[in-house]
Amino acid sequence: MHHFHYVGNQLHAEGVDLAAVARLHGTPTYVYSAQTIADNYRRLAASLAGLDVRICFACKANSNLAVLRHFANLGAAFDLVSGGELRRVLAAGGRAEDSVFAGVGKTDAEIRLALGAGVYGFHVESEPELERINHLAGQLGKKAPIAIRINPDVDAKTHAKITTGKSENKFGIPLKYAAAAYAAAAKLPHIEIRGVQMHIGSQLTKVGPFVEAVEKVLPFVAELQRTYGIRYFSVGGGIGIVYQDALASGQQAWWDAQPEGERPLTPEAYGAALTPLLAPLGLKILLEPGRFLVGNAGVLLTRVEYVKRGHGKTFVILDAAMNDLARPAMYDAYHEFVPVVRETERPALKADLVGPVCESGDCFAKDRMIQEIGEGELGVFMSAGAYGHTMASRYNTRALPAEVFVSGTRFEVVNVRETFETMIAGEKIPGFLKA
Ligand SMILES: *Cc1c(COP(=O)(O)O)cnc(C)c1O
Repeated sequence: MHHFHYVGNQLHAEGVDLAAVARLHGTPTYVYSAQTIADNYRRLAASLAGLDVRICFACKANSNLAVLRHFANLGAAFDLVSGGELRRVLAAGGRAEDSVFAGVGKTDAEIRLALGAGVYGFHVESEPELERINHLAGQLGKKAPIAIRINPDVDAKTHAKITTGKSENKFGIPLKYAAAAYAAAAKLPHIEIRGVQMHIGSQLTKVGPFVEAVEKVLPFVAELQRTYGIRYFSVGGGIGIVYQDALASGQQAWWDAQPEGERPLTPEAYGAALTPLLAPLGLKILLEPGRFLVGNAGVLLTRVEYVKRGHGKTFVILDAAMNDLARPAMYDAYHEFVPVVRETERPALKADLVGPVCESGDCFAKDRMIQEIGEGELGVFMSAGAYGHTMASRYNTRALPAEVFVSGTRFEVVNVRETFETMIAGEKIPGFLKA
């Protein structure tokens, strides 16, 4: 469910006309809906009400300060993958002491920063990292709370680039070596064993792989509880969202119309499957959802620059490009495209939706059936709230897009469009080239 819908013929984010946003703040611009985020958060929390659960929003999905503050206000903690994200959480007023720090390549500086901030748990991905954390904690006269990330070797049945829980992925420690890793951790004087973690992948659309992974590690988790008195089990993130039919899926009627057994994964189904498995442990359960919480809460607002009618192909050339929204180029991701002004009379048009970047990969959709749209008109890519702006780059010296936050009828720019000056602020021409 989400709060992007037509009011009359104008596409709105909650109570805000997206044409007004474009008029005031230009395009391409990401627009986020506060109510959608809040609904997603509360719905997920309610689905796991039978557990002592803490939701740690995975910041890498959307790390805008306004979004982070909104989550902090809702009561969320955070899943961090860099020192930069930790600093963002602190800048947004989030609780670092309830948050967890993941990632395979934590640097000395990042580990020190996290120790200083007193994070709830370091999610350790290798033996050398464990030693490094122990060493740095000792230097600071602290004990570092850790959980080891277990790689359960299950197939998440998602895109290869977002599968993380197979043994060939770089993440975590295989289940069969995990006991030895914990035994090694127990010997380190500046390490406190606090939990256990796993995360098998992203955009999972079925509950099966989650259940399989939990069932696989459950005996080991119980053993850790007996041996080390761990306090928590983080089951990671990965709950998928609806990308196809993204506009319609905001309505309950759409969900009701999906055939039984083919309904996309809901938080209720996730909660119903996992609660009976996890509740008997009596542990605190951490969840690290990113995409589920913000994916359908954001759109990328863009304007048509040209409609180029080629030889047997029509190209709709937009002012947004792969540098603004990388997912189609990177993961062959599907984003639904809809016009901001709906007209009942619009004929259908088969087109490639492309950006202006000089790469053939700068293509949002190939041979897509859309409603006819002309030069200067506005459209949006739906479901762009996760891994959208956080993956944006300046490729082709294109400024990072602006971000706008909507709540009810209020909206504000929460990240201004970059200027040319800020883009080149760190660059210089060395003196020896000037002679
Ligand atoms: C990326 C990531 C997540 C979030 O994944 P989603 O699919 O966005 O829910 C959670 N935990 C870890 C360790 C991650 O790397």
